[in-house]
Amino acid sequence: MIPKVNLPADARLDTLAVREGLPATPWGENSEALFLTSSFVHPDAATAARRFANEEEAFVYSRFGNPTTMMMERRLAAMEGTEACIGTSSGMAAIMITLMALLKSGDHVICSQSVFGSTIKLIQSEFGKFGVQSSFVSQTDPAAWAAAVQPNTKLLFAETPSNPLTEVCDIAALADIAHRAGALLVVDNCFCSPALQQPIKFGADLIIHSGTKYLDGQGRVIAGAVCGSTELIEGKFVPVMRSAGMSLSPFNAWVVLKGLETLGIRMRAQSASALALAQWLETVPGIDRVYHPGLASHPQHALAMTQQSGQGGAVVSFIVKGGREGAWAMIDGTRICSITANLGDTKTTITHPSSTSHGRLTETQRLAAGVVQGLVRVAVGLEDLDDLKADLVRGLQAE
Ligand SMILES: *Cc1c(COP(=O)(O)O)cnc(C)c1O
Repeated sequence: MIPKVNLPADARLDTLAVREGLPATPWGENSEALFLTSSFVHPDAATAARRFANEEEAFVYSRFGNPTTMMMERRLAAMEGTEACIGTSSGMAAIMITLMALLKSGDHVICSQSVFGSTIKLIQSEFGKFGVQSSFVSQTDPAAWAAAVQPNTKLLFAETPSNPLTEVCDIAALADIAHRAGALLVVDNCFCSPALQQPIKFGADLIIHSGTKYLDGQGRVIAGAVCGSTELIEGKFVPVMRSAGMSLSPFNAWVVLKGLETLGIRMRAQSASALALAQWLETVPGIDRVYHPGLASHPQHALAMTQQSGQGGAVVSFIVKGGREGAWAMIDGTRICSITANLGDTKTTITHPSSTSHGRLTETQRLAAGVVQGLVRVAVGLEDLDDLKADLVRGLQAE
């Protein structure tokens, strides 16, 4: 039996973020240890046999169990309010293990048409090859999801808020549709993280994370995780991990583990800066439209405030004049923002979604997702807000 940390049962998110994990080793280290070991040693052959047969809980091999990875999993599960979590080598690996664990040939998935581009490719092309059917529907219209349900529907897949337009879907409404169809609801919680949104509270069954984003929070590693019930994680996901091996490296798990300690404080600060920037952008001449869930002008503002602890998140998108050329000139005119499609960093990033994150989609798919050529996305970091405003002004003047 692997012991637990002795925490009060009512410990809150910011406390869990710093304290949940595994008890310290006999050396009494205060910062969590990094266990860089591929395998674990057993006291004798009989114990080894029991551990391999899952009759005794212990660490065996880091492809499917490592103390540092387990600390990250326990901490993230506690923060999401789920029983269990499994770390994966990337956010995409988290989605892949979910599809592998829950689907077979002939099954049907309903997915928002506004999810991460690689998620659409993975479901439609890669799993389509193995006979998994899929329908892509409106992010914001639960009736469209209900209408897409088929007798073989096993999974509903949502991401909220979406990238880059921050469209919000109604998690409780989708959970209801999924459960009435005997299916499960999976929510990609990348953009809010558990610091702002806990999808399990609204009825989601599984929560996907790209640890690469806000969980690490400083743009250092690629990592992922799936959170859910012990029944699903232990019963369906761990066996796939054991045979398929999309494992999270202990080093990357340690970086995410330490990143989680500052998640709450970072998310609140970056979200507040993003809202201030969005409100200011709405007053800047030459900007056609600004997208941020914290704006009163956002079409799902009220729903977002309910689901996201009253906060909009750190991503702001806006449409500049002049299409692709206008957007590229604006991006190239900035000096502080990093030109990269990544997000969830303390460094503010700026990107042109239609030629980067959404570049592999067809123009029709892009327009269905609302990703026009003039759209620019900023993922706000921790720089001084006035310096960021000045940087965007520099960009707009170059446009
Ligand atoms: C980045 C991202 C992913 C994929 O995560 P990786 O760690 O890059 O594999 C999945 N979903 C969303 C919403 C993302 O932003």
